[in-house]
Amino acid sequence: MKYKVLIGLEMHCEISETNTKVFSSAANTFTDQPNTNIRPVDMAFPGTLPVINKEAVRKSLMASIILNCTQPEYVYFERKNYYYPDLPKGFQITQETKPAPIGIYGKLKFECNGEEKEIRINNLHLEEDAASSDHEGRSSKINYNRAGVPLLELVTEPDLRSADEAVAFLETMRSIYQYAGISEADSKKGQIRCDVNVSIMEADKDENDPNNWGTKVEIKNVNSFGGVRDAINYEIERQTELKEQGRYDEVEQETRRWDEDSMSTIRMRSKVDAIDYKYFVEPNIPKIKLSKDWVEQIRKEIPKLAHERKETYINEYGISDYDATILVKEKQTADFYEETISLGADPKIASNWITTNLLGSLNKLELTMDDIKLTPNSLAEIIKLVDTKEISSKQAKDVFQECLTNDKTPKEVVKEKGMTQMSDAGEITKIANEVLDENPEIVEKYKSGRTNVVDFLVGQIMKKTRGTANPTMARSTMLEEIEKR
Ligand code: ADP
Ligand code: MG
Repeated sequence: MKYKVLIGLEMHCEISETNTKVFSSAANTFTDQPNTNIRPVDMAFPGTLPVINKEAVRKSLMASIILNCTQPEYVYFERKNYYYPDLPKGFQITQETKPAPIGIYGKLKFECNGEEKEIRINNLHLEEDAASSDHEGRSSKINYNRAGVPLLELVTEPDLRSADEAVAFLETMRSIYQYAGISEADSKKGQIRCDVNVSIMEADKDENDPNNWGTKVEIKNVNSFGGVRDAINYEIERQTELKEQGRYDEVEQETRRWDEDSMSTIRMRSKVDAIDYKYFVEPNIPKIKLSKDWVEQIRKEIPKLAHERKETYINEYGISDYDATILVKEKQTADFYEETISLGADPKIASNWITTNLLGSLNKLELTMDDIKLTPNSLAEIIKLVDTKEISSKQAKDVFQECLTNDKTPKEVVKEKGMTQMSDAGEITKIANEVLDENPEIVEKYKSGRTNVVDFLVGQIMKKTRGTANPTMARSTMLEEIEKR
């Protein structure tokens, strides 16, 4: 390619793990029931005042520390003034001008297609989310549940070079937010939204000199990682084509949006018409002096992140790098795994069950961890039942499927299906002889040297016992009995 691509992201993530909103006492919980989580301050009623949520500041500081940012000496907020139906106050409380943000000038390492990359973070700031609107024909409905939900906005430097890198970085951030207990970071709940900035420049020029950078286009409010990937690739193609045709001056500093239906970016407005937000310091929230001790305490309280848990799995549990990567991809899976082990299951066997059977089934049935009934308790029990030879591993798979989506314990399923594995030596010997009596011609074949027919005979035992015979015993018993003939 003759061009280098520069991508910078503005990633918004709602902090979901606080009890209340960032400046009011309304519950910070996701609900489908519109306009139920609101307090007068979210509606900007006259005479109401915002009160800062300490836990939201703590979670933001934790993110700031993880991103290797510098924390401010004073935490304070600013008003960003504009009018929009989803913004009842007519302004958003945010942190814009440096050094207000909760974090500035950080960096983060992440992995993309097996290669280590590093990205510089320009800033991380804490703000309030706006309400949301639903458009139906000529009318619009406003839902204020989201108004005032704590929102972290992370602004990167334009250090990303491809759609793959952008998505890998976003996935790393989602994982950090989840593992650190900051947010569920669930795009289906609208908790993650991104603005994507893309430009192209001549490949042989120095990318460290901003004078060489091309004109950037901003794509607003992309709400899925797939959308981010498609929007970037579309923009690279569009800008490259204009450049090749000598029409690069048509790439304007503008804001576009990603349109899922046409799979293209559509112009919204030129940056020249940019709104003047008339920022000023929010007078109703006092400046807060940040104590170094508190920051150090928060640093110590950072939970184990995905890469640390992965190391434990590899070094202490002997799990392969490949499987460990799968286990930590989603925090819910890793938590499920660790709980299963804490209940006494062998780490390698538990890992096999989860990476193959559990995730395989979720994939096939198009379910998520939220949809299943299987608990770490039931998985640990299934593993134990196989270990004590009460059921065969084949039966265990059936028990597993049954427990996956039903409210039943493995023991209940085993009982219900009359599944206990048969390892009664007398009974198996009896059935082996029945099989031999019924198949004299196969016995002949065996005697003439075709010993592999024994597989068929063992199969007959399994059939007669509906798969419940202990397979190892069935084989050894069959070999003993046929030799006696
Ligand atoms: P604006 O003032 O237009 O909001 P900023 O300098 O604040 O621009 O940057 C916003 C985002 O755009 C950041 O994520 C930054 O990394 C990104 N960005 C800036 N310049 C470029 C460029 N030439 N190409 C791609 N992204 C860019
Ligand atoms: Mg900006």
